[in-house]
Amino acid sequence: MREKIFSKLQEFLSKLLGIDKEKIYLDESFFQLGIDSVMMMTVVKEINDLFKVDLSLSDITFKYNTFGLICDYIAEKSVEDEGKKEDISPVKDTCEEKQYKEVQVQEQAKEQIQEELCMDSLEECNAYKFKYMYNICREQRQTLEKIFMRQLELFNDIGNIKQQSSQKVINNKEEFVKKNLGNIDSFEDKKVPKIESATDSNISISMENPLTEKQNEMLNKLIENLVKKTAKSKALAADYRKYLADLDEVAGFTMLLKEIHYQISIESGNGSEIIDVDGNHYVDIAMGFGTLILGHSPEFVMKSLEKEISRGMQLAPRHRLVGEVAKLVCELTEFDRATFTVTGTEAVMTAMKFARAYSRKNKIGVFSGCYHGHNDATLITKMSKNDKGRPLAPGVSKASLDDMILFDYNDMASIEEIAKHKDELAAVIIEPVQSRRPGIQPVEFLKAVRKVTEENNILLIFDEVITGFRCNTGGAKKYFGIEPDMATYGKAACNGMPIGIVAGKAEVMDVADGGIWQYGDDSYPVVEQTFYAGTFFKHPFTMAAAYEILSFYKKDNNKMQNRLAKKTSELVKRLNIVFKEYNVPIEVNNFTSLFKFTALDDSAFIDIFYYKLLEYGIFTWEGRTCFLSDAHTDEDINKIVEATISAVKDMKEAGFYVKDNFKKGLPNELFYD
Ligand code: PLP
Repeated sequence: MREKIFSKLQEFLSKLLGIDKEKIYLDESFFQLGIDSVMMMTVVKEINDLFKVDLSLSDITFKYNTFGLICDYIAEKSVEDEGKKEDISPVKDTCEEKQYKEVQVQEQAKEQIQEELCMDSLEECNAYKFKYMYNICREQRQTLEKIFMRQLELFNDIGNIKQQSSQKVINNKEEFVKKNLGNIDSFEDKKVPKIESATDSNISISMENPLTEKQNEMLNKLIENLVKKTAKSKALAADYRKYLADLDEVAGFTMLLKEIHYQISIESGNGSEIIDVDGNHYVDIAMGFGTLILGHSPEFVMKSLEKEISRGMQLAPRHRLVGEVAKLVCELTEFDRATFTVTGTEAVMTAMKFARAYSRKNKIGVFSGCYHGHNDATLITKMSKNDKGRPLAPGVSKASLDDMILFDYNDMASIEEIAKHKDELAAVIIEPVQSRRPGIQPVEFLKAVRKVTEENNILLIFDEVITGFRCNTGGAKKYFGIEPDMATYGKAACNGMPIGIVAGKAEVMDVADGGIWQYGDDSYPVVEQTFYAGTFFKHPFTMAAAYEILSFYKKDNNKMQNRLAKKTSELVKRLNIVFKEYNVPIEVNNFTSLFKFTALDDSAFIDIFYYKLLEYGIFTWEGRTCFLSDAHTDEDINKIVEATISAVKDMKEAGFYVKDNFKKGLPNELFYD
């Protein structure tokens, strides 16, 4: 039954992932196929559907972490379900059959080794026994190493793990085996060693983690320091986990760093600094996921909010500043009309709806690797080159993806594909620069997308929730000089207050309200309207803050955006020098004031690096996209660089980021290409 299940699993995975089924081995894990944990969520769901089982991502990560174990689980489950346990051979052979088979296998192994060593003396026989035991230990060790590899892989944040090349992983299998069995090879060289005990054999398996003693020492010290430093945050996380269901709390969870896996609870923020509940001060580089472009609590925004709060919260009647804020958005972005939501997710949903209502076509094109919020329709991912797209996580409706077409980002082959779907595509939506890959600024691709959509009567929507008002007051639209038909905004539009904006050309935006009409004549809203609404859209506090902020942007005429871009580029240059100087495989890239550390090699260690930054007083969030704000001073920038140097020095001294830094010599190439 196990073989049957495995064969079905191989067949299924080979189709799903576009890999040769012969390259899927029973004793390997999913993660050795180069599947990252975001893709894994989808794979787990597909397996559950296929075999009618109930595996979770944690099960596959920690419990059933080889295909063999998964097959055993499925076999056991299906037998349980059918209520006939005795059918599960050969996994569940009868006791006698099992014993008989084990004896046979042992005899064969014995014969083989006896032949190999031509042994007949007692000493040789003992050596055989040792070697037999040794092989068992070796297998156990390999299994453990696979678990460790997976744990290390999980150090990276969900959605941001650099995609492994499965082919490379498979090609490296031989090298992996060779390196792992280094001790065995030397043992074999000696042919018949006289080893008195297992400890002499140099098989000491660390159950806790795969790090060397020195690395462990540093990690334990780091954990000790952080737990002491942020004790109240840890207590809050522990006390309220029972009540608070929060995905942020588990992003990037790993057993190795479990004791410091909790969110830092914040007391207050000012300028570039945050103060946590334990009284620690940090230079913030998360900056509210990029919303706080002016820094924490800028005086002029706080004043306007305080004034607005004193007026109360009138939600049903229109706020006096809504029209003025819409006008400011249009002036800055050079669009005709704008409307408001509360979040970027809603802005994207609304823009897609407008596109459908305007064009009377149904499909929306999206691009791989772009994030457009947590609306089901945009939570689409692909497993292999020819995959048409599937839900990114359990709970995402498959039906909601029926009207989506997934294209490859920054791949000119997509241009032709878009044209092929011209009769069904209402619009394509794209992040002009993806927040997780700021180093890629695909201007030529964006221009080609604009050209093909224009020529084929398809709308182009720029999702500028991240780039809007940041790279330029007119967003990527003005930065790159490309004219989409609509764009969505959020974050930097309101410096921490919840906002989503859809802006666009009048002819498209008119589906919101029927278009322009005047008093005193026979005009009326002629365009057929769609429906969108929200209790908190155009919230008075948001409108008051947005008015001040957008007015400032207008007056400032991009001076702040340019200043910030320059400051960030200089910081990034200095950080890259540090990494180069210390020979650490981390690279930092930026797109204006957004920057991101990318692990080039030992990605497994980058989370330890982030925790070291925290220890040295620099705060990043779990998604690790970083931002500078106008409140960051030269002193702050120096602190970021100094903390990076200290973190890197500590890690190097402890044996991280040096060759053969694993106790058992796990090859680094296995993790990432
Ligand atoms: N679009 C992009 C490009 C984003 O980066 C985000 C959020 O980070 C969203 C949409 C969703 O915005 P929100 O989190 O406000 O719903």
